Amino acid sequence: MTLCPVCRTEAVHHLALPHTEVVRCSSAHCGLQFALKQLEDKELSQAYRSFYYPSNGQAPRLQFPSTPTGVLRQMFRQLQNRMPPFEGLRLLDYGCGLGSLLVVAREFGFTPEGIEQDPVACHEASATVGNRIYRSIDDLSRHDPAARFDLVTVWNVIEHLREPWADLQQLRRLLRPGGSLLVTTMNVHCVRARLEGSKWENYANPTHFYYFDRRSLQRLIRHAGFGSVKEWKPHLRHPHHGTMRTLFYDVSNYIGVSGVVFYLSGVESSSATAHPAAIAGQKGASSSIEVGNSGK
Ligand SMILES: [Zn+2]
Repeated sequence: MTLCPVCRTEAVHHLALPHTEVVRCSSAHCGLQFALKQLEDKELSQAYRSFYYPSNGQAPRLQFPSTPTGVLRQMFRQLQNRMPPFEGLRLLDYGCGLGSLLVVAREFGFTPEGIEQDPVACHEASATVGNRIYRSIDDLSRHDPAARFDLVTVWNVIEHLREPWADLQQLRRLLRPGGSLLVTTMNVHCVRARLEGSKWENYANPTHFYYFDRRSLQRLIRHAGFGSVKEWKPHLRHPHHGTMRTLFYDVSNYIGVSGVVFYLSGVESSSATAHPAAIAGQKGASSSIEVGNSGK
């Protein structure tokens, strides 16, 4: 039996993909979808090289381009209404890719820092941003043990992580009391996912291990120990969208079937000060959970 790694309810077959099987948690309160078998490290590294970050000598084949900077600017503009003035605040972008969010964050006054596991992307982001980009949370903590951030962004990255609850628990320790976590990901209940089924680009992407909706993402963030988890619906205009598509986007957003979901979470002073024991306890609990690819 396969168990949901977040709520431990039985997960059942959802759909078959060429590279894996997607299973779905059968709890009405969770419903997390995940890849039963995740790509091994070597295959995963090749997939990133092929789909996202071609290395020297290879023709670019960027099938999953990053968010346009114009859209990131709209997001930060709207985030200004929900946070203290950005000037001088420390931002950490987890899984920063080529660093475009960091560049835009700096325009808005943040002191931006990034973590990127992929060596090619890490190198390029470092050159673009002009900062050291860390390879992992441990790498950051080694160089700056006291680092605490006002905003941590996990922008279209959570679906790529092998055990996203563990990453979120670690990121929670890096937030200042009163700091915020912003998580965005694609929505499995969006209209395109419903129409395209297994052909939907976020199922077809072999580097994705989890497929969220509003409910399962919120549940995951709470599972990682965040006390205040709120959906955010920024109004973002994509430059290539015409009037009809913009209207469609607005309606989808309103009724909760938009292509992307956003969650903003805070960390309260009390939970921040209590975190070492709490995190240790949660880590122990999560490590005992059977994860999709080994929990058959
Ligand atoms: Zn579940």
